Amino acid sequence: MGDQTSTPASQLPASEENSAADFSQEINPTDGLHAMRIVIVNENSNSALFIEALLHRNGFRNTTITATGQALFSVLKKSTQQPAQVDLILISSTLPDIEWQQASREISTSKAWQEIPVILIATDPEWFEANAKQAFNCGITDVIYTPLRPAHFSPRIYSALLLKKERTIKKINARELETELAERKVIDARLQYLVNHDDLTGLYSRRRLVKALENALSQGRRRGQPVALLHIDLDQFKVINDLEGHQAGDQLLVNIANMLRKFINKDKVIARISADEYTILIQNSTQVRTLEFAEMIRHAMKMFSFEIEDRVYSIGMSIGIALVSADDDISASEVLARADQACFIAKKHGRNMIHLYDEQDQEVNLQRDEAQWTPKIRNALTHNRFCLMFQPVINLKSNQIEHYEALIRMRDEHNELISPGIFIPVAERVGMIHEIDNWVITQAIGALQQLPEDKSHVSLNINLSSHAFHDPGLLQRIKDSLHQSGVDARRITFEITETAAIANYEQTRAMIIKLRELGCGFALDDFGVGFNSFSYLKQFPVDYLKIDGSFITNLVNDPIDQTLVKSMVEISKTLGKKTVAEFVESEEVLEMIKSYGIDHAQGYYIGKPGSEFEGVESVSFCPLAPNNA
Ligand code: C2E
Ligand code: MG
Ligand code: MG
Repeated sequence: MGDQTSTPASQLPASEENSAADFSQEINPTDGLHAMRIVIVNENSNSALFIEALLHRNGFRNTTITATGQALFSVLKKSTQQPAQVDLILISSTLPDIEWQQASREISTSKAWQEIPVILIATDPEWFEANAKQAFNCGITDVIYTPLRPAHFSPRIYSALLLKKERTIKKINARELETELAERKVIDARLQYLVNHDDLTGLYSRRRLVKALENALSQGRRRGQPVALLHIDLDQFKVINDLEGHQAGDQLLVNIANMLRKFINKDKVIARISADEYTILIQNSTQVRTLEFAEMIRHAMKMFSFEIEDRVYSIGMSIGIALVSADDDISASEVLARADQACFIAKKHGRNMIHLYDEQDQEVNLQRDEAQWTPKIRNALTHNRFCLMFQPVINLKSNQIEHYEALIRMRDEHNELISPGIFIPVAERVGMIHEIDNWVITQAIGALQQLPEDKSHVSLNINLSSHAFHDPGLLQRIKDSLHQSGVDARRITFEITETAAIANYEQTRAMIIKLRELGCGFALDDFGVGFNSFSYLKQFPVDYLKIDGSFITNLVNDPIDQTLVKSMVEISKTLGKKTVAEFVESEEVLEMIKSYGIDHAQGYYIGKPGSEFEGVESVSFCPLAPNNA
C-alpha cells in the first residue's frame, strides 16, 4: 500500500516560524491546534480511515495517512525541507516493514523531528502493560489502546498537539537565544577590535598603545632594557584634508600607515593616536638606534608623495622621541606626554625635524609653564609692555627700502624682550590673541601716522594671527583706525601665514577680500612650508607671497631649495603676484634671488629688526636696542 495523503500539500499549515508567531499572539492555548498536521501510520487502511474520521469529527482536518514506516519517513524527510509539516504521528504497533520502537527512537533522537510527539496505537493483541514502559523509553509520547474510544481519544490528541506547540516555541526561543549569543559574541569581538584598533588604518588605537607601553615599561624595568617612543605628527595634513576633501585625507592617512608599517617588526608597535598623529613604540632600543630609526622614517617620508589626479603633494612630518631608561620610574602617560612635547619642539624647528626629549629643554619648560605665561601676557596688555620693531624690506629692482615689517616684542618685568614665537602661540591658545592683534594694528597705524610728510611713501607690513578671522570686530576697528589717523590704507599690507590661511580657507578668503576692498594689500607669509600644491592660489586674492626663510637660508648650497624657489617664483609670476624672500642673510643669497626674478628681499643681510622706524621712535617701539631681534 502506498502513501495515501488525504490532505493536499498546498493546504498544509504555515511554516514553523509562522506557527510560532501565531502562537505568541494566541490567547486560547488550543487555538490553532486544529490546523496542525497529523500523520497516521497504519498498515490497515480501515483502521487508518477510522482514526482519520475520529480526528475529522473533532475538528483535526489536516491529516495524512501512510501505510508503512518507510512512507512515514519519506513524509518526514520532505518536511525537513519545509519544516513543521508534521505535528503529530499516530503510529501503529504492528507495522509490516519496521519496528515501531526503531521508528520512534529515530524520530525522537533526530534533531529535525524530535519535537514531534509520537502516539503509539497499540493494536497488538499481545500488548502487555510492561510494553508501555518500553514504549516511553523508545521516545513514544503516549500509548492509546485499541479499540479506540472516541471520548478518550480527542483529549490525548489535544495534549499531544499542545506538547508539540510548547516544544516548537521552546526550540524557536533556544534558536533565537543562540543567534543572539552568537551575534553578541561578534559584537563583543568587534567592540574589542574597535577599542584596540584605529578603524581607518587598522593600526593600534591610543588605548591599546597605552597598554603596550605599560607592558614595555615594566618589562624594560625587569630586564634592564630602555624603551623608546616616537611621536610622529604630519605637517599640513589639515591642509590636504580641507583642499582635497575628507576622502582624500583618509586615503593619505591610510597610505602613510601602510608606509610606516613596513618599518615594524616584533620589537615595535605602531599606533595612530589622533587624526594625524602616529606613534611607534620600540622595545630595548638605545638612543643611537632610536635616532637611526627615526632618521629612516624621516627619509622614507621625504620619498613619499601623495597624488590626486595631477596634483602631487609631498608630506612633511615632525618626530618627537622619548627615551626611557630601565631605572626611570615613569608612567605610560608621562612617556606619551614627553614624546608629544618633543614633537612640538621638532615642529617649531621647521619641516621634517626630529627632536629627542630632554628634561632641560627650555621650550618644554615653557610649554609646561603655559599657566605662567598667561598672566604675563595679561600684564603686558594692561601695562602696555608690548613694543614693535621694524625690519626693512627692499625692492630688488630699485634696491630701495620700500616698506618695513612690524614685529612685536613683549618686555618682561626685567625689561628683557621676549620674542613673539614664545608668547603668540600661548596667547592664541588662551584666547588673548585678538587683543594683541588689535594692539599691533593700532600701534602700527599710529607709527605710520607719526612719519613726516616726506616719508608718506613708506608702507608697513602687519602680521595678523591665525585667529584674526574669528574676530568679528576686526574690520571695523581697522576702518576706524585708518579713518581717525588719516593714514592711506594702501600703505598697509597685512600678512597671514600660508598654513593659517589654508587651514581656514573660506573665512580667510572672505577676510582678505574685505581688507583689500579697504585698499590694504595682502601677503601670504611663510609661503611653501611643507606644502607643494598651489592650486588654491588661483582663488586666493593676495598681492605678495613671502617665500619662507627655510627655503632661502641654504639656497646657495641646496639644489632642492633652488628648484623649489624657482618654481614658486614661476607660479607667482603666472598668477600675477609679487614675491618676497625672507631670511636673506648673505650677499650670495641676495644675488641668487635677484637672478631668479624675486621682487623683494628681507633679512639680516639687509637689516635686522630695529626699534627705529625711518628715524622716528615712540614709546610703543622697542626703546632698548635688543640683541635678540
Ligand atoms: P614672520 O612674520 O615670518 O617674521 C619674520 C621673522 O623672521 C621675524 O622673527 C624676524 O625677526 C625673523 N628674521 C628676519 N630676518 C631674518 C634672517 O635673516 N634670519 C633669521 N634667522 N630670522 C630672520 P620674529 O620677529 O621673532 O617673529 C616671528 C614670527 O612671529 C613672525 O614670523 C610672525 O609670524 C609672528 N609675529 C611677529 N610679530 C607679530 C605681530 O605683531 N602679530 C602677530 N600676530 N604675529 C607676529
Ligand atoms: Mg611676517
Ligand atoms: Mg615669515
